[in-house]
Amino acid sequence: MRRARLACVLLTATALAACTNTAEPPRPSATTGTRAPAGPSAAGIGDPYYPDDGNGGYDVTAYEVKIGYDPPSKHLEGDTTVTATATDELARFNLDLTGLTVSAVDIDGKQARFSREGEHELVINPDTPIAKGATFRTRVRYAGEPQLNKDGTLGPNGWQIAKSGGAFAAGEPHSASTWYPVNDHPLDKATFRLSAQVPDDWSVISNGHEEAPRSANGLTTYTWVEPNRVATYLTTIGIDKWTFERSTLADGTPVVSAYAPGAEDKKPIEAHLPEVLAFLSDKFGPYPQSAAGGIFVNESISFSLETQTRPTYAKWANLDVIVHEQAHQWFGDSVSLERWSDICLNECFASYAQWLWAEAKNGTDLDARYRAVVDKSKDAFWNRKLVDMGPGNEFTAVYDKGQLALHALRRQIGDDKFATLLKQWISTHRDGNATWPEFEAMAAQVAGQDLTRFLDAWFHQASKPADEFLYPGSLRK
Ligand SMILES: [Zn+2]
Repeated sequence: MRRARLACVLLTATALAACTNTAEPPRPSATTGTRAPAGPSAAGIGDPYYPDDGNGGYDVTAYEVKIGYDPPSKHLEGDTTVTATATDELARFNLDLTGLTVSAVDIDGKQARFSREGEHELVINPDTPIAKGATFRTRVRYAGEPQLNKDGTLGPNGWQIAKSGGAFAAGEPHSASTWYPVNDHPLDKATFRLSAQVPDDWSVISNGHEEAPRSANGLTTYTWVEPNRVATYLTTIGIDKWTFERSTLADGTPVVSAYAPGAEDKKPIEAHLPEVLAFLSDKFGPYPQSAAGGIFVNESISFSLETQTRPTYAKWANLDVIVHEQAHQWFGDSVSLERWSDICLNECFASYAQWLWAEAKNGTDLDARYRAVVDKSKDAFWNRKLVDMGPGNEFTAVYDKGQLALHALRRQIGDDKFATLLKQWISTHRDGNATWPEFEAMAAQVAGQDLTRFLDAWFHQASKPADEFLYPGSLRK
């Protein structure tokens, strides 16, 4: 994710307060440290910051989402099948679904009782408990007008109505539950298949590969298939009067980019995509996704988002944002976090990719840039943690302090070991999940150094690092 205004932290303390005040208030049950245990019917997967997100007791392997959507009436009809494996015996279990009216739930073809609880819990009671280890298919039929989730840390999340009258879904940390039933946490990644039927004058973009559209009776069904496991907030749909551009990368990866009416002026920057992906592949290892491209909405939303294979770009997106969101295809999408307090694993690296790009393509002297940021910085810049920052503060420091921290790490361990570390991180955790402590351990192992004090000063403290950590290697004054 890249927020619309990155400069908050370089402003005065008053302005900083205004920036951070847009964040969600901390939740009373939030704790620091490791995940709470998630029992068989737990209404949350155990994230310390978002205890109600996701659900305990099962592991989703595949989503098959079928919807029909009528832009003029904003009416959605959904028929979603969730294939999962029970990790406990399940007398009941939850899916996350916000709003919308559920008409029927069945499990392996047998009707199941269900109820709605809280903001987004769909509670399902199978006729007989599902045995631990069993694979089961839950089919949910539902309908209604999807609602925007207005409480996002960076602005509204989830289902949004486009200027054209179309719609798109994007948001972090929540989005998917506004349009399909889901185990809504990045810890439970699964494959994703979407079939969306819309009136003939509309079209649909989503993640992954496209199958040939089918038309009948004035309606066209578009099918998109993401064969790699995807974190739920990285799934997306865009319904609009898209202009599609199709090509392939040198390695045969299919590229589909879609431009909403009014966003066609983004074609020249998206034309850099092959160069961007080749550059990032050189830094991080082979492109890890099944397809590529971008979704250019004609909206001034408050963020662009790294929706898997195909980022969603706000109207203000530029080439720097494309570099950032594409870097997430490695950092965040292929290697996903296990808990939101580790968001630096996504954002610090995607933000530092912008520096790497500037260094390689524009000849930017990164040490000079680093010193300039440090020299300008006020206390408010340093008083923000990069890890365990507290719920609602995930996105305050990672974009700028995160860049400095990774540049300092690079100078601390040297270019060669830093390059090895980036590639080894991705290859070790590709298509999976990982934690910040695992990154610290790998950094120390690759560096052959005890980095405890360095990493603590940069990532765990809300204060300016001591000079020995602030000016390592060629940064030393
Ligand atoms: Zn980002």
